[in-house]
Amino acid sequence: MNSNFSASFRCIAGCGETYPLHEIVYTCRKCGSLLEVSHDMDRLREKSAIQWRELFDSRMGTNRWPYGSGVWNKKEWVIPGIDDENITSMLEGNTNLLWAKRFGSMLGMDDLWIKMCGNSHTGSFKDLGMTVLVSMVNEMIHRGANIKAVACASTGDTSAALTAYASYGGIPTIVFLPRNKISTAQLVQPMSNGAIVISLDTDFDGCMRIVQEVTKDNTIYLANSMNSLRIEGQKTISIEMVQQFNWDVPDTIIIPGGNLGNISALGSGFRMMLELGLIKKKPRLILAQAEKANPLYLSYLKGFKSFEPVIPEKTLASAIQIGDPVSVEKAVRALKEFDGIVEQAGEDELADAAALADRTGLFCCPHTGVALAVLIKLLDSGKISKDERTIVISTAHGLKFSEFKIGYHEGTLKDVKSRHMNRPVEMEPDAGKVKKIIDQKLKEQYG
Ligand SMILES: *Cc1c(COP(=O)(O)O)cnc(C)c1O
Repeated sequence: MNSNFSASFRCIAGCGETYPLHEIVYTCRKCGSLLEVSHDMDRLREKSAIQWRELFDSRMGTNRWPYGSGVWNKKEWVIPGIDDENITSMLEGNTNLLWAKRFGSMLGMDDLWIKMCGNSHTGSFKDLGMTVLVSMVNEMIHRGANIKAVACASTGDTSAALTAYASYGGIPTIVFLPRNKISTAQLVQPMSNGAIVISLDTDFDGCMRIVQEVTKDNTIYLANSMNSLRIEGQKTISIEMVQQFNWDVPDTIIIPGGNLGNISALGSGFRMMLELGLIKKKPRLILAQAEKANPLYLSYLKGFKSFEPVIPEKTLASAIQIGDPVSVEKAVRALKEFDGIVEQAGEDELADAAALADRTGLFCCPHTGVALAVLIKLLDSGKISKDERTIVISTAHGLKFSEFKIGYHEGTLKDVKSRHMNRPVEMEPDAGKVKKIIDQKLKEQYG
């Protein structure tokens, strides 16, 4: 236990309510607003910026429990009071920050980076938040709380992460999924890990309403990102990226958003580093939405003066097919504070951007495609300049979205022209003919 440092839930609306982190509470009991985890900053300031940097650097890559995790190596900034024994970690985080050398040069950029958050246990950045939530549930159960199971509504990746972590810790899991709206890989993950999988004839927002009903009596714990514990884990990517650049702050970060927890988390990671003096400069945060599920983009066009939920349409970027995002207020705060931009991308744009990046050795999920398409648009309009150090956050592993990849290269995706299609050559096993085809293809594809 690090009894020196402490944190609690606090109402984001500023009505003054606070609750201990061990309490089962998701929204403010007085005013109904979202909560956030609030740290005792004076205590944290007792260590200097240099000391924090050195501490975090010294834990990188260690197998000293629990610091081998990219989340828990920043434990004091995440959930300082939790017992190490109750931490449920699969050593998430510490994902590679890849220099997109060839893709960048196609766009005229030589300082473009991709943060590979999908290179993680369940194949998406959701692992970063789930380790924190499940660890807290585990601690509550050890302290005698009557929690029978954890539950979530999901567009796919949340349910995979929740089930993996809860099963690792021995906690029963219930997941609510919109029927026929997620990929096979996303469906098979919670099935394999033994969750109770409930497939509902509705969309994500409909699943969300059901899980909120089911978790009302507190014996089933709600694991959606309205639960601010997850944001505490996700915010460590901000710190990790800066650390990977030797504590230099990038100019611009682009991230795809649906429920808007992750953009909020990025903001809170940077806010904390600024407050504790680890960095001086603010990066610019850019949120990328799918045109078919773009409520925050529409609000951005009105200077965030108002926000209206939308009914999302079907998009290839299925994990961000959300019309009524739960973390909208936190997201707007982060975007205002970090000189934010919201831009959108259509189906054809996101699919082509992902396929073009794949040609340089990447394997991008459709959400990463949205972020890459937004990068291309903002370069074209001059809102991002080519010499900026830019990081695109890749939120999931492309292998989770093989239907998207196959559909692209077979040319069967709706509203997508597949300009970078690449199909296998089916032919007879005749060496002469094979050599001829190779010559022809080398000219065509590598010219
Ligand atoms: C959840 C998810 C997002 C969106 O994150 P939010 O916090 O909901 O905005 C983006 N990409 C992938 C792959 C996801 O799983």
